[in-house]
Amino acid sequence: MVKSVYVDNAATTAMSDRAIEAMIPYLKEVYGNPSSLHTVGQVAKEALFGARQKIADLIGATVNDKISEIYFTSGGSEADNQAIRSAAYAGLAKGKKHVISTTFEHHAVLHTLKKLEKEGFEVTYLDVHSYGNITAAEVEAAIRPDTALVTVMYANNEVGSVLPIREIGAVCRAKKVIFHTDAVQAVGHLPVNVVEDNIDMLSASAHKFHGPKGVGFLYCRTGVPLKSLIEGGAQERKRRAGTENIAGVCAMASALEEAVSNLDKNMKKQAAMRDRLIAGLSKIPHSKLNGDTKNRLPGNVNMCFEGTEGESLLLHLDAKGICASSGSACTTASLEPSHVLLALGIPHEIAHGSLRISLSEENTEEEIDYLLEQVPVAVDEVRAVSCLWDDLKNGKREHLI
Ligand SMILES: *Cc1c(COP(=O)(O)O)cnc(C)c1O
Repeated sequence: MVKSVYVDNAATTAMSDRAIEAMIPYLKEVYGNPSSLHTVGQVAKEALFGARQKIADLIGATVNDKISEIYFTSGGSEADNQAIRSAAYAGLAKGKKHVISTTFEHHAVLHTLKKLEKEGFEVTYLDVHSYGNITAAEVEAAIRPDTALVTVMYANNEVGSVLPIREIGAVCRAKKVIFHTDAVQAVGHLPVNVVEDNIDMLSASAHKFHGPKGVGFLYCRTGVPLKSLIEGGAQERKRRAGTENIAGVCAMASALEEAVSNLDKNMKKQAAMRDRLIAGLSKIPHSKLNGDTKNRLPGNVNMCFEGTEGESLLLHLDAKGICASSGSACTTASLEPSHVLLALGIPHEIAHGSLRISLSEENTEEEIDYLLEQVPVAVDEVRAVSCLWDDLKNGKREHLI
């Protein structure tokens, strides 16, 4: 049997046993609707409140009888859409039609911004440079009197850059501009505190930290306006209609609690495995590490191998039981390489040959050994049938890396 090594944790993670167990009571006996007045409903309502409070505590937000800064959503995408639209329209009401972001955000952010541009907003996309990061000074320089919102991701899902969120938050606070961060790759993976990090709005998703899919949350600081995207009932303090996903929310709270309590240990373990992978795979001729070498997610490796094509590489790896990802989102026959790699200025023909390995604390040193042995084999296999590699070998084309 081919052994299976799952290293695509930036796409999604396996649920932890604790998160699954936390879910079960709310699928079985505690099935009530929290809006119901009877006992079965009220028990569900208490569970919802408990989960909200737990999540707030874990990220430094406030939830009590009077205040609630945590809004449950269907995931990271919804939270991003809601935060960005809310802040943009709140700005518009004051005549502000400018938004600042970066070129390498997740599509949940970029596509929302594209829609806003069609509606008449102007968006400045900050360049992320060849090393895949920005500075707070660059954000500050882009802020104008009509800037309604700055939305910058906490950590990039493809190349793993960790952005200077605390400094960017401080700049936005000083200039009185709303600051949203897509922290889907950071929450449960890095120390995140919304107060210390000067964050006004933050998006997170359970399935990226060993919780279930289809549930996430939006932190919205008290006083920052939040509009509903969905019309209906009065759930989530009238900010998100629809009967709550109690089982999902309770599992998410439990998964986050587990992730945060093991944070230091998990970060160290992943970083050690990451660094071993980077050192080993960098020995492959004509390879290159993408992204920020210093400020990098502990579980992220993203490399380009010249003369390969990401999808063939993934298929060869899959045949060896390795589940990884290409930097590119083109699982379909799209010819466009990843917008993130292009944002880093990587040429098309190299960006096509990318590999993202995203680790979890569940991965083992034995699995890293296996990757170090098998990835070079897969690269050779793909190069062996590549016309591009032939041309490079025969000197018909110049090596770019
Ligand atoms: C996965 C991801 C999202 C989307 O979250 P979903 O819960 O899958 O909708 C948004 N932003 C980033 C950075 C992500 O990695």
